[in-house]
Order: sequence, then C-alpha cells, then structure tokens
Amino acid sequence: MTDFKEAIESAERKCSQRGIKLTRRRREVLTTLLEANRALSAYELVNLCNESSNEPMPAMSVYRILEFLRAEQFVHKLETANKYIACKHIACEHEHKQPQFLICNDCHKVQELDTAVEALSSVETAASMLNFKLLNPQLEVSGSCGLCKT
Ligand SMILES: [Zn+2]
Ligand SMILES: [Zn+2]
Ligand SMILES: [Zn+2]
Repeated sequence: MTDFKEAIESAERKCSQRGIKLTRRRREVLTTLLEANRALSAYELVNLCNESSNEPMPAMSVYRILEFLRAEQFVHKLETANKYIACKHIACEHEHKQPQFLICNDCHKVQELDTAVEALSSVETAASMLNFKLLNPQLEVSGSCGLCKT
C-alpha cells in the first residue's frame, strides 16, 4: 500500500506549498478515506476514524475536516449519494479538472474521470438557454462497471 502513502506525502507537500497545514486529524481522515478505497458517508467515516483511535473525534470535527479536504481537492463529495471519496489525483502534479464520476449501481465502486468537461459544457449551454444556472457542475453517472457487467 505504498500508493496512499505517496498520496499523503503529496497532500502534505501541496499543503505546505499553499501555506496551510495537514494536521494530524486532517491526515487521519484523509488516510481513512484512502484506505477504505470507496465512497463513504460522513457517518461511516466518523465511525471508521474512531474505531482505530483512542482519542475519538466528534462528528463535527470530521465534517469540518471534510470541508477543508474538499476545498483543497483531496476529497470529493458525491452529491447524489451524499458520500465522500478520496481524489485519485492527490499524488498528481497536474492541475485538477472539474471532477466527474462513474458510479456502479451494483458494487458501488466509484471511478473518477479525468476527461475534459465537454459533456458538461453542453448541459451548461442548454441550461443557460433556459436561464438555469448550474450550481454544481459535477457529473455523476450511474451504471454498471466492467466487473459487474454481465
Ligand atoms: Zn479529484
Ligand atoms: Zn492525475
Ligand atoms: Zn460494479
């Protein structure tokens, strides 16, 4: 599991470049999410974090930490499922694009796409013709993943 160790190190480096701090608790929440390797609700995350800790975190702190991690693009929120997932580009040096997700209905695996936002800009154009402003331009598509497809 060198993968998420690298991700944590990158997150730490990015934080110090941005002049902020990845505190122990922030790191704990991010590590838990990376280890889980799936989307978790805030509630599940609180439980998981506290399972392995002798210093339990109140749910409110976990929520605040999640907001911080989201703002830094280390974590994304799936609005449709109301769950959180670790960004797959934490260790990447490229600029983060608008996150888009494929969500499997059967195994609930979530894949983050790194493609362009063309699909979305046509939605945006169509929406603006109806005078509708997109507040959350995040695409979340449900379906069946390669492993579940029969
Ligand atoms: Zn991401
Ligand atoms: Zn990347
Ligand atoms: Zn699946």
